Amino acid sequence: MSKTAAVPTAAVRARAEIDLSALRANVRALRARAQGAAVMAVVKSDAYGHGAVPCAREALAAGASWLGTTTAEEALELRAAGLPGRILCWLWVPGGPWRPAIEADIDVSLGGMWALREVVEAAWAAGRPARVHLKADTGLGRNGCQPGEDWAELVATALRAEAEGLVRIAGLFSHFACADVPGHPSIAAQLAQFREMTAYAEQQGVRPEVRHIANSAATLTLPETHFDMVRTGIAMYGVSASPELGAPKDFGLRPVMSFSAALALVKRVPGGHGVSYGHHYVTRGETTLGLVPVGYADGIPRHASGSSPVLVDGKLRTIAGRVAMDMFVVELDGEEPPVGSEAVLFGPGDRGESTAEDWAQASATIAYEIVTRIGTRVPRAYLNASA
Ligand SMILES: *Cc1c(COP(=O)(O)O)cnc(C)c1O
Repeated sequence: MSKTAAVPTAAVRARAEIDLSALRANVRALRARAQGAAVMAVVKSDAYGHGAVPCAREALAAGASWLGTTTAEEALELRAAGLPGRILCWLWVPGGPWRPAIEADIDVSLGGMWALREVVEAAWAAGRPARVHLKADTGLGRNGCQPGEDWAELVATALRAEAEGLVRIAGLFSHFACADVPGHPSIAAQLAQFREMTAYAEQQGVRPEVRHIANSAATLTLPETHFDMVRTGIAMYGVSASPELGAPKDFGLRPVMSFSAALALVKRVPGGHGVSYGHHYVTRGETTLGLVPVGYADGIPRHASGSSPVLVDGKLRTIAGRVAMDMFVVELDGEEPPVGSEAVLFGPGDRGESTAEDWAQASATIAYEIVTRIGTRVPRAYLNASA
């Protein structure tokens, strides 16, 4: 396995450390929760910003048996990197790379008749069956086939294609709208609909290898939703699906990403000094300011302006004024840590630093968005690879 060289801390503007031992431990914790159901490691969107290939490798090493991505291109990239086993991708548009996916032994999701028609044509051209998962919309109201006539037509047509050797119906699946809201009535309704739609397909003759509906929140809190496989994303990265659900540590999960930057400037300024675009912050008296050389282009939410999530020299510091594209300023309250000092934006919280959840709260979003948005300009440093 290729290890990404550790980036030397001192010379680096900013870096995201990815603790692969935490990722493996999280996967093992999720396997235990899954109680015998297979675990799909969801590594879409570059593994939620953590790096798809290294995270996929480590997830498989820790016992995940499937990989999941949104796009076919993401799935093909994993295959090209030599990742073995089953990979499913679930968002297609007409004219997508069906044939390369079939030839790379990638499972594809079908949410409607147009997709079935395209995959059958590609399977014919490739001279081998496509492995497909029929996606049911059990209430999310997003991707997937509606119950009733639409589902009956998709199932019947897929079964005919299976009889002709053009597809193998490997899975039946769906996705929850509110699994992260404990007790939400849509959970039971979607589960009942899923049971009904899978039972119908099986009565018609579908023999799926895997039925799956659970995301991280459902895997952690709703054992009745596990079926044959769970699809875990956010929990694998040690991040909470929602504040209502609880903190990662409540489920034995540890944050995988730590994000830090080196102070680019520390300076003394007089009182009444405006700071950053728009002068939304004005120093109350003589004080010191630190320049943190990362901004919204690196994924730092502009809406976090004015909150206090940055640990410098052992203390949480307030973001003074607006977060700009490439930098922001923190109030150092007269203290003068050396330029180059580490500013910890978020991490597991062991040192008193903020977590991705804290940033999410400060910027009125969810922690998924915080880690996923960390930009490509920020180097990832992989720690504790398994081999
Ligand atoms: C993103 C995604 C998941 C994983 O969701 P988490 O909440 O991150 O666990 C599972 N299934 C589908 C279809 C997804 O798009």
